[in-house]
Amino acid sequence: MEQFEGLTPTQTVERVGALLGCAPSSAQVAQYLDRQDPLRPLRDEFLLPRVSQLPPSDQSVADGSADCIYLVGNSLGLQPRLARQYLEEELDKWAQTGVHGHTEGSRPWAWAENNIEQMMADIVGANQEEVALMNGLTVNLHLLLLSFYKPTASRHKILLEAKAFPSDHYAVESQILLRGQDPEESMLLLSPRPGEETLRTEDILDMIESEGESIAVVMFPGVQYYTGQLFDMAAITAAGHRKGCYVGFDCAHAAGNAVLQLHDWEVDFACWCSYKYLNSGAGGLAGAFIHNKHKDTIKPALTGWWGHDLSTRFQMNNVLDLQPGVSGFRLSNQPILLVCPLQASLQVFHKAGMAALRRKSVLLTGYLEYLIRLYYTRDPSQPQRAHVHILTPADPQQRGCQLSLCFSLPIRTVFQELEKRGVACDMREPSVLRVAPVPLYNSFSDVHRFIETLGAALRASSS
Ligand SMILES: *Cc1c(COP(=O)(O)O)cnc(C)c1O
Repeated sequence: MEQFEGLTPTQTVERVGALLGCAPSSAQVAQYLDRQDPLRPLRDEFLLPRVSQLPPSDQSVADGSADCIYLVGNSLGLQPRLARQYLEEELDKWAQTGVHGHTEGSRPWAWAENNIEQMMADIVGANQEEVALMNGLTVNLHLLLLSFYKPTASRHKILLEAKAFPSDHYAVESQILLRGQDPEESMLLLSPRPGEETLRTEDILDMIESEGESIAVVMFPGVQYYTGQLFDMAAITAAGHRKGCYVGFDCAHAAGNAVLQLHDWEVDFACWCSYKYLNSGAGGLAGAFIHNKHKDTIKPALTGWWGHDLSTRFQMNNVLDLQPGVSGFRLSNQPILLVCPLQASLQVFHKAGMAALRRKSVLLTGYLEYLIRLYYTRDPSQPQRAHVHILTPADPQQRGCQLSLCFSLPIRTVFQELEKRGVACDMREPSVLRVAPVPLYNSFSDVHRFIETLGAALRASSS
């Protein structure tokens, strides 16, 4: 790909078209980009459902033996090929050695999650001791807020988006109630400007600047789940700190998708799940981050034996030797069966590196955007023709891999026609499709097939 260094995705696609003597929209361009893609072998590390394996209604139109066009890694990542092997190793160990599995083998259950935390820390830009793998995302958000949200009479607000993910909204609301505050007063909700779909960074920063004295915690997503907008986490953190607020991020849609520098940005705390871009399987082990600078000052509100120093944890003397930082927030021993698939996935990330993944991601999503604009921009001379408006910011710095497409027609039938043709993506009624080409396992040909299939689905739904 070095030959295209410095070119925008559109320039790259046009350059390849010229090189091959074909239209930039030709499938040959996608095939060429796949051949040049240094990360292409990673696709084989994942199990891709075939069209015939999807639910029955999905089989009618497409070739059943073809790989489905999987563009929904933003919701549930694919199964890493090694997940099953690792799980079987632990099931065998359990069968053959019982309780000895806690301390024996290549993955001793009593500290198995610790052995993969460095790989997770690399993905979010943290030091290993700033990261704990435990619980689910919403549980971790609660545990973190219990320690970071300590409202006072003058500083009692939590700033979040008006359309935050429901679980985040409920978590914040209930924390405010738990502290005897009134959500009407203390939940500061930020909306895009009238007629706009995404938040402007300047508006977020202005809000922090003007309301900051009363804000205890700024709580934003890294990447917005619905619009795909990637926030300027460094600028938001700096603005919050200038006003004396704690700043935390929910990185559910950012971890494994965008390049994160939680440590260098001085983010106070963060949480994320691992079953989306991080491919750990539904309900997988979630992550929590607390910056080093808080390691001796921010203490867990709730404690359990897994927060006790490992070297003396099993002496059972009931004198808590609390680990510093986020490690002290651990409560229970971690489920080994959730560590296995996550380990399998993190090893693939480790091999690839976030910088290379991001390089491919910018081109892959740029290619999708190019084809959408080419075929589905509104054409005033054909007002009846279906057109698509992209909600996600056009600036690659302000998005991850996902594009949220808003259609000029109701989306349900189109979505069903896409499913019948072997496309897995995500629909939000009335008119939005979320499409996420994941650089780890999606190809340029997947994107090209998606665009062709979308054309067929639109024709079928309007006939
Ligand atoms: C996916 C997602 C969740 C899901 O929470 P769980 O606790 O893992 O069920 C919460 N918040 C955001 C922003 C998400 O994207």
